[in-house]
Amino acid sequence: MPRYNRVDQRIIDELRAIVGEGGVVTDHEKMEVYAHDETSEAHYFRMPEVVMKPSDARQVSEILKLANREMVPVTPRGSGTGLSAGCVPMYGGIVMSMERMNRVLEIDTQNLFMVVEPAVTTGEVQRRAREVGLLYAGDPCSAESSQIGGNVAENAGGNKAIKYGTTSRYVHGLEVVLPDGEIMTVGGKCVKDVSGYDLVKLFVGSEGTLGVITKIWLKLLPLPKFSVSLLAPFSRMQDAIDVVPKIMTGSGVVPTSIEFMDSLSIQAAAEYLNASLPHGDAGAYIIIEIEANTQEQVEAEYEAVGKLLQDNGALEVYVADNIATSRRIWQARKCVAEALRLVSPVYCMEDITVPPSEIPGLIAEISEIAERYGVMIPCFGHAGDGNIHATLLKKDMADEAWERCKEQVLAEVYDATYRRGGNLSGEHGIGAKRLDHFEQFYDPVALRVTRSIKATLDPNFILNPGKVVRPA
Ligand SMILES: Cc1cc2nc3c(=O)[nH]c(=O)nc-3n(C[C@H](O)[C@H](O)[C@H](O)COP(=O)(O)OP(=O)(O)OC[C@H]3O[C@@H](n4cnc5c(N)ncnc54)[C@H](O)[C@@H]3O)c2cc1C
Repeated sequence: MPRYNRVDQRIIDELRAIVGEGGVVTDHEKMEVYAHDETSEAHYFRMPEVVMKPSDARQVSEILKLANREMVPVTPRGSGTGLSAGCVPMYGGIVMSMERMNRVLEIDTQNLFMVVEPAVTTGEVQRRAREVGLLYAGDPCSAESSQIGGNVAENAGGNKAIKYGTTSRYVHGLEVVLPDGEIMTVGGKCVKDVSGYDLVKLFVGSEGTLGVITKIWLKLLPLPKFSVSLLAPFSRMQDAIDVVPKIMTGSGVVPTSIEFMDSLSIQAAAEYLNASLPHGDAGAYIIIEIEANTQEQVEAEYEAVGKLLQDNGALEVYVADNIATSRRIWQARKCVAEALRLVSPVYCMEDITVPPSEIPGLIAEISEIAERYGVMIPCFGHAGDGNIHATLLKKDMADEAWERCKEQVLAEVYDATYRRGGNLSGEHGIGAKRLDHFEQFYDPVALRVTRSIKATLDPNFILNPGKVVRPA
């Protein structure tokens, strides 16, 4: 890593001149919330030297120019809901919080676009689209708190990726401030556009290492008129997981979501919600959402899927066809990450991804690894698109033993994932957390290309150092 300088009073005075008094935080206590994201381990807690809250792209640009001149690192931050320590200032310096840039700039109902600043929450984007009869299809479980800019920077997935794909599919244009402070606009409202390299996609998922996103053009879709959620408890995890590829290939239906929770996740959710869940002692839940434009179609589709679930061992199939019942089903799934934190405040949530047909085999292997090491690894996630959140829990273990055990278990889980044609992260990103394993597993030529892109755009390694790639 390059040698960075400390942020001294002279630099703070200059930063204050750029954003004004209210846009600079130096108070230690107030900066603590900017020292971590939702990654639970203590080594992903780093204090910033100063927090900046710019209001527009010009201020972002001025901050980055100053940071280059003074050799001070800058870490962009959304809401801090990330799960790979992406917004943690691993080398101190400036945390650039986007929180003030939170305006919806335009909703274009003719072209079906919404233009937003990065700090609008994903939930707000969804609501504003719905108000005009449109759908923003991105739907991470963190939608109510994460920022759309954070979703773009991580290429967030979520519950609906099986039908609608991930965030990148809906990002058609970006305004980005490059690490040297230059402001670039690429794409916009064109639905088709192959003019030059696809620079929009280069920045989607770049985890705040290639530029700071300051404006986003999001494609909207017509809002489906009817939806139904199904909850199917199974006695055995393996039966539940085995049914997923059958739904995909045998039902003739493309569900909007196919999610799963194992028994530990179900119990943790019940405890967290302080509620009794249906078949709370089940080995697994499969949760499915189906959307269509007519009542007849949605009924025909959920009946076909429901029959398949029953024929394949579901203990029951609960149908939720109104907002209240559907919310009850989904709150169990959406709270799992927080619920597991109650079971063990220190945990390691993984985000492995495999071709969907490999899920049954991989889950069986993870359960065998857990047994062999005597650790709890609850699994839940996006079964329909092959993305599993296997979560190692630290229980009754000293810190040193936990670190050793975690590394050994991770090595085996990753090995199993790669043997099955999978990869390290389906949606949470590499961040600081997976940097070593990324270098270990990623194609070496692809790694060289990645490093050269970073070096071209950010020769001083000013922007978000310690994430995704190290200098060559
Ligand atoms: C309970 C829970 C459920 C979750 N569910 C899902 C899920 O279903 N699907 C999913 O994909 N993720 C999920 N996540 C992870 C997380 O919410 C996402 O990664 C989200 O996209 C992060 O957004 P954020 O605004 O919190 O970004 P942060 O955590 O603040 O930052 C994430 C990364 O984006 C960069 N960044 C942020 N804003 C900008 C910007 N404007 N310009 C450039 N870089 C920027 C940061 O530098 C960092 O590298 C979940 C997290 C929690 C805690």
